[in-house]
Amino acid sequence: MGRFDAIVIGAGHNGLTCACYLAKSGLKVAIFERWHTVGGTAVTEEFHPGFRNSTASYTVSLLDPKVITDLRLAEHGLRILERPVQNFLPLPGGDAFSAGPRAADTLAEARRFSARDAARLPDYHAMLGRAVALLRTLLARTPPTDLRRARDLWETLSFGRRFRALPLAAQREIHELFTRSAGEILDHWFEAEPLKALLGFDSVVGNYASPYTPGSGYVLLHHAFGQVNGQGGAWGHAVGGMGAITEAMAREAARLGVQVECDAPVRRVLTRPVTSGAAPGTSRGGLTGARGGATDALRVARDAAPWRAPVATGVELEDGRVFEAATIAANVGPKPLFLSMLEPGDLPADFRAHIERFRTASATFRMNVALAAPPRFATRAGAAARDPAHLGAGIIVAPSLRYMDRAFADARLHGISREPIVEMLLPSVLDDSLAPRGAHVASLFCQHFDYHLPGGRSWRDDAERERAADLVIDTVERCAPGFRASVVARSALSPLDLERRFGLAGGDIFHGALGLDQLWAARPALGYGDYRTPVDGLWLCGSGAHPGGGVTGLPGHNAARAILARR
Ligand SMILES: Cc1cc2nc3c(=O)[nH]c(=O)nc-3n(C[C@H](O)[C@H](O)[C@H](O)COP(=O)(O)OP(=O)(O)OC[C@H]3O[C@@H](n4cnc5c(N)ncnc54)[C@H](O)[C@@H]3O)c2cc1C
Repeated sequence: MGRFDAIVIGAGHNGLTCACYLAKSGLKVAIFERWHTVGGTAVTEEFHPGFRNSTASYTVSLLDPKVITDLRLAEHGLRILERPVQNFLPLPGGDAFSAGPRAADTLAEARRFSARDAARLPDYHAMLGRAVALLRTLLARTPPTDLRRARDLWETLSFGRRFRALPLAAQREIHELFTRSAGEILDHWFEAEPLKALLGFDSVVGNYASPYTPGSGYVLLHHAFGQVNGQGGAWGHAVGGMGAITEAMAREAARLGVQVECDAPVRRVLTRPVTSGAAPGTSRGGLTGARGGATDALRVARDAAPWRAPVATGVELEDGRVFEAATIAANVGPKPLFLSMLEPGDLPADFRAHIERFRTASATFRMNVALAAPPRFATRAGAAARDPAHLGAGIIVAPSLRYMDRAFADARLHGISREPIVEMLLPSVLDDSLAPRGAHVASLFCQHFDYHLPGGRSWRDDAERERAADLVIDTVERCAPGFRASVVARSALSPLDLERRFGLAGGDIFHGALGLDQLWAARPALGYGDYRTPVDGLWLCGSGAHPGGGVTGLPGHNAARAILARR
């Protein structure tokens, strides 16, 4: 049996980040990782001899600049490249819409479709910028959980003050962005479908929803708070793939003396009971909403063994080894942590019931393909489409909000969108370390593919995965004839594969949907938005905690700060 000050379950980028900050403060830290390498969903692998690519997450923007600096990621070799063109949308009829690299380029392109839209675009970006600025003030802060605590009350009041300091019109815009659908907002601003599709795509990334689903405005905003080398809102490429980020983090962890063990799945979190704790049947913050009173009285009567907050003492690995620590930080999502790694009696009944209903669904299908040649888009558009720089863009196959809406409706009915939303990136255009000379790799990120298929079908049936992969290839083929013939090899991950490979409940790429019901102080549950859990000494440090999914490093950073403040 080994003993550490802190144990981190999982070596995803947030687990590594959390471990680094804890070790920096002098703690003896160990990470136990289920897979044979570190990185979790930010990993690069060879998927066909000579062809390497990011396996899951595939493009970078949200990684926090403070995390990049504090963890010395550049010194450890991380290089992030800007895209030569931000986005490229092939359109029906052979046209295309090209965005960036400069704002002036996007404006000129928008003007081809609507002079009115082009005139409004700077104001739209200014509006989004105001919302992003407010959101950024929240990202690295611990959400309030208990307004009777001075720190939490102050946090809430100071956020309120920042919001109230904005002009009323800006408050209304931000309120709309947080609550309305992206589609409604974009329809209000613009008339040209390609521009709306370009701007609305972010609202359905990893979000099993239509751009017309209320709350999708927030998902759009969530994808806008990042930067690449100081260029706000831009997306870029980590040289060597997303694994380069976590490899650099692992080097820093090693430098700080963190003990990382791979191929070491954790079976359960060990706890010991205490004699004092919260009232039976309730959780801190009271998910039942009843502190004392009739509900609690009923629960006390019903519960044979009243629940009391236990204390985490260590972890047991699948191989039976036991390691002790007073602090356990879980990089795994809320569902696997609370429903599989703890005994039901370790949690208040209401909290456990809430986690059972925690929404996990992104309906994402992820492919990598090895290509003998880069795709050629059938466009008759102007210079932008003929310029090879567009191959370095995020290529979005979803020409309108209606197309995305239909993709969602289709998936609800049939399990799979008959015309899916596909973003394709060709990282080998920017990075020659990924494919043999002259050949390429493509990342294909596809929506919507429901985790649950109707009519008795299941992703357990390999034929479903292959059919879905064919559909995705056909979708790209329609705008880039010859694409199918250029595919040398392919690797595909269904929602079930994402769950099995990465431990993502329901295949949810963010460890839990980014809905308003599951954000900020309510991530993963009201009363526990501050990285603590009902088990004393057990903390959440992954994307299932504030500020949620994406390669940000922020849940890991914030959790470490909360843990250190407690010691
Ligand atoms: C297909 C896909 C595409 C995405 N695209 C992007 C993108 O382009 N850009 C972006 O910013 N974000 C993207 N995301 C989201 C982003 O990757 C995640 O939100 C984020 O990386 C999660 O990081 P994490 O460290 O919190 O968790 P994870 O990366 O999920 O790490 C959790 C770790 O825990 C380990 N683990 C699980 N069970 C156990 C156990 N029992 N014992 C020990 N270890 C265990 C896992 O193996 C894993 O290493 C994508 C995600 C997916 C899945």
